[in-house]
Amino acid sequence: MMARSICSLARTVRFFAGAACCAIAFVPGIAAWAATAPMIEVPKWENDQIDTKINAGIVNTATIEFNPEWLKALESREIPMRLPGDEKGILLLRKEFREGRKDVFVWLGTAQGDTQSTVTFTIVNGVLAGTIILSDNRVFKLRSLGGSKYQIDQVDPRKLPPPGTLPERPPTPAGGAAPGPNGVAPAGVPSPAPVVAPAPPAPPPPPPSPPRPPTAPVAAGAALDALPAQPQDTPFPPPPTACADDKQIDVLFVYTPEALAARSGNRSQLESEVCNVEVETNLTYSENGLPYKVRVVGIEAFDPGRSSSTFNVLQSLELNGGPFISLHARRDALAADIVLVVMVSGDNCGLANRMHRNEPDHAVRAFAVIPINCLTGDYSVAHEIGHLMGAQHEVAADSATDGVLPFNRGFMKLHPREGRAPWYTIMATDKQCVDAARSDCRHLKRWSHPSEQFEQDDLGDASSNEFDTLTKMAPLVAKYRCSTSRPAVEGRCFIP
Ligand SMILES: [Zn+2]
Repeated sequence: MMARSICSLARTVRFFAGAACCAIAFVPGIAAWAATAPMIEVPKWENDQIDTKINAGIVNTATIEFNPEWLKALESREIPMRLPGDEKGILLLRKEFREGRKDVFVWLGTAQGDTQSTVTFTIVNGVLAGTIILSDNRVFKLRSLGGSKYQIDQVDPRKLPPPGTLPERPPTPAGGAAPGPNGVAPAGVPSPAPVVAPAPPAPPPPPPSPPRPPTAPVAAGAALDALPAQPQDTPFPPPPTACADDKQIDVLFVYTPEALAARSGNRSQLESEVCNVEVETNLTYSENGLPYKVRVVGIEAFDPGRSSSTFNVLQSLELNGGPFISLHARRDALAADIVLVVMVSGDNCGLANRMHRNEPDHAVRAFAVIPINCLTGDYSVAHEIGHLMGAQHEVAADSATDGVLPFNRGFMKLHPREGRAPWYTIMATDKQCVDAARSDCRHLKRWSHPSEQFEQDDLGDASSNEFDTLTKMAPLVAKYRCSTSRPAVEGRCFIP
């Protein structure tokens, strides 16, 4: 959908606190560390030293000295900051400082004058992962280079690979639907499940039938769409357990050796980014009036071996007795409702087994894959978890009619009132922006909701009501594994 080449402008950066010519610096007089920060010479990066998979979407980068402990200080309630490409600087305002489990903290705030912005600085074991998301489409991420040295990257979300699309065409099940016109998935087609081909056009609806009881795990390759349709208001059978856990989606994050290597083997950096994901994702719920929370119950190493592609990993995960049997056991032990695999991949910004209508048991397919460069900054994890809860892209990007609910779509507004910049909700894509050659589209931290408005425009329509979709489906996913019966399981980040 978009150019995917690395656009890094990495260069020699001379900066020191407060210098007007700096590419980036915290402004002096605010923090003790800033006043004493030494001038730093950053060796020039050559383009051929940059791993384009890890760095997809980065348009500017620089290195700073930073002591995360300072964020705990009272003075950190206001942080003047000069960002790459912005000599004017911005003022970050703290809204909340929250402690999680031992040695886990988060500084939460906004940029002054930008109420739609989100700033999250998460610290795990003294290592910071920071994200600054501004409403003008500028996104900045901080991550550790070891010690007090941090890299700050400006990421252009429009240069990231599209979310939830399959880079590879899933194998066509025997008797299943044929590939697209060119034998490949068209750009923008959303996260179809690897084992499920696009729905055949308009099969005649069968008579209503009672909810289907849970069945044995579904083998990869099964043509689920061949099953008769159920009425759309009874989209999915309830999970087998009676469980009071209907608000909290427990997530086991696992990361591949390559993902860890992309963080120079620094596990605390990875854990900090995953905890940042918990914060970011939960903000999408709380700020939209949804009562759900994701809780990270594990951040663990996982080696998929030869299943190196996102699609292969997803497909293999569906085999309960397959090559990843130990991961399934770990999921059960931690009562994780869903599992997210953090990989290194530049092909897409996440891939999930979207919940389809007529599935006998989506719990066995409740997996998603997320590239490490998409973990934070563009609500990609919220988006993929949305797919696991049945939400779907906007119709323009996804014509499949196998959704769990008739109103499960993301919403895209190409022409808002008064000539404002286009925007789209969490489950929508920028396909229409790309098609219209617009470069100013904004990905909102909002779920579609026809009763709500954004800047005086409706935030959804009859087919775009992610709010109600999550309201109906999130409680089911939250019960995939019953964490309330396992008091030994504790959150790894902020949700205990
Ligand atoms: Zn998607």
